[in-house]
Amino acid sequence: MARYGMALDYKNCINCKACEVACKEENGVLLGADKHRIWVGVNEVEGEWPLLDIVSSTFLPSQCQHCDNAPCQEVCPTHATYYDENGVVRVDSNKCILCSYCMNACPYDARYVDDRTMTVDKCTFCSDTRLARGETTTACQNTCPTKVRTFGDLDDPESEISILLKTREHFSLKSHLGTKPKLFYLT
Ligand code: SF4
Ligand code: SF4
Repeated sequence: MARYGMALDYKNCINCKACEVACKEENGVLLGADKHRIWVGVNEVEGEWPLLDIVSSTFLPSQCQHCDNAPCQEVCPTHATYYDENGVVRVDSNKCILCSYCMNACPYDARYVDDRTMTVDKCTFCSDTRLARGETTTACQNTCPTKVRTFGDLDDPESEISILLKTREHFSLKSHLGTKPKLFYLT
């Protein structure tokens, strides 16, 4: 058993979208579907032409934060949303009744409706695909040309992610909400 999380060296993101394509291909997500599973947000450039602050324009890769205190799990009336043995927040599509409570409760807008199954879906840290095959990286991590993402076991003090979080400053998104995300953005 592990407690999986991900560190993102987000300032290295070049918005090539290789992670989005790899995720879709690996996990059978419809190509072209926007903000399904993972996406890259773009911070707007500050200032006015011609005095634009180009440096302020950064890309922010995002996805389900696999919150330790997940509001989506709390509101799910059928217990379709659950924590698996590795702390990954999952959806049992057989139990999902598409009430959308979880989509409204998620502060990160991380969930979407899979039109093919008419159930809610989201990032699974490749639990059903790469991890099930014994791989130790997610598709997005594996394909990123600038090595933005580091996936691993937060409970293993020797894991690459644990060492990164011990040695680099980092922050979580909307941490004031108390959701305890397991995605960490390195500064
Ligand atoms: S990011 Fe949203 S979908 Fe993911 S665990 Fe947190 S509340 Fe749930
Ligand atoms: S839409 Fe599905 S997963 Fe979400 S709260 Fe309703 S039953 Fe649970």
